[in-house]
This record gives sequence, C-alpha cells and structure tokens, in this order.
Amino acid sequence: MRRNQIKRLDIGFCSLCGRAAFWSENAKKLQDDAIICGECVRKLRVMYPFPLDPKDIKHDPLKNLTTGQARDAMGKVTEFIEDFRERYGYRNAVFIVNKIEKEGGGLFKSPLYCLYGRVLYGGFSINEDVTVKHGQSLYQCRLKDVYLDVPLTDGYALREKDHAEGGYPAILQIQERNLDIQVRDLIVK
Ligand SMILES: [Zn+2]
Repeated sequence: MRRNQIKRLDIGFCSLCGRAAFWSENAKKLQDDAIICGECVRKLRVMYPFPLDPKDIKHDPLKNLTTGQARDAMGKVTEFIEDFRERYGYRNAVFIVNKIEKEGGGLFKSPLYCLYGRVLYGGFSINEDVTVKHGQSLYQCRLKDVYLDVPLTDGYALREKDHAEGGYPAILQIQERNLDIQVRDLIVK
C-alpha cells in the first residue's frame, strides 16, 4: 500500500515527451534541472551508456545534458543505432563481455557462466538463442538468464530479471559444458 502511494507521487512532467515522470521509474534530472521520464531515459541510454563501474555512477553522462541536447539526441537515436548495426555486421543486438564468473558444474552438470558487461544496442531476453563471437570463431548458445544490472551506489544495484537493452550494464548467463569466452568477446543476436 505504502509503496503504491510513493510510486504515485510524480515529480513533474517529462521535458521531452510531456508524460508524468516518477523517480521510482528511473526519471532523471538533467544539467539544467529539467526532468526526463524513465521511458525517455531508456531510449537515450544507447547513446549515453550507464557507467559499468559503481565508482563512476556519479558521472552518468545523461545527467550532463541540457534539455536542448537531450531533445537533439532523441532525434538521432535511430540513426545512432543504425550506425552501430552497420559497424557490427547488421546484428540485431550486441553485448560486450567485461568480466566472467564461472559457478558450479560437476561431472554431470554444466557450469553456469555469468557474463558481466554492457548491451551496446538492441535487447537480450531470457531463453533466447545467441551467437558467441570469440575471436574469429562463432558458436551458438542459449541464454539461461538475463539481468539488467544497474549500479546505484557502491555495493547496491538495481537488478531486473529477464531482459536488458542498449546502453545498460547487464549479466547474461549461459550454462554450457565448456564455454570458450574471454573479456572483450561479443554476444550477438
Ligand atoms: Zn519522456
């Protein structure tokens, strides 16, 4: 009950699209104190990626924009993604691996690879088939799980399950007997 009440307290209207904005939906204040709503933030993220390191979250590049710059950027998002697609062989989505953790696994069970990194563009969802691009070799895998993993303060993160999209830090999990992967490799769709 209390949560709902808090959620309903909007903080004004989005200076880009005019919808009501909520902190609880990840609205942001820009450099000139204008507010943009969570939905506009998500659209712009691909151009202004969220920092991967919790130490850098104070330097969220989106917060340095003025309303005019944010509006200009919004008009260029599609073109920006198209440039990305061209650079990455017209793939629909690209994730770059920043850190790898391997959990469990045994004689009869494949280990779980947790791939930390960032979605450059496009989106990844749970149970999707993806291609691992390891150097020159490509191989197919299935995503066992996907988490959006946004550091909020040191040691605490906003973690949403099942889907992650362009500009956001994410964790992709793959369960495989032997996953040939290293930092800087790509997961593509
Ligand atoms: Zn908006």
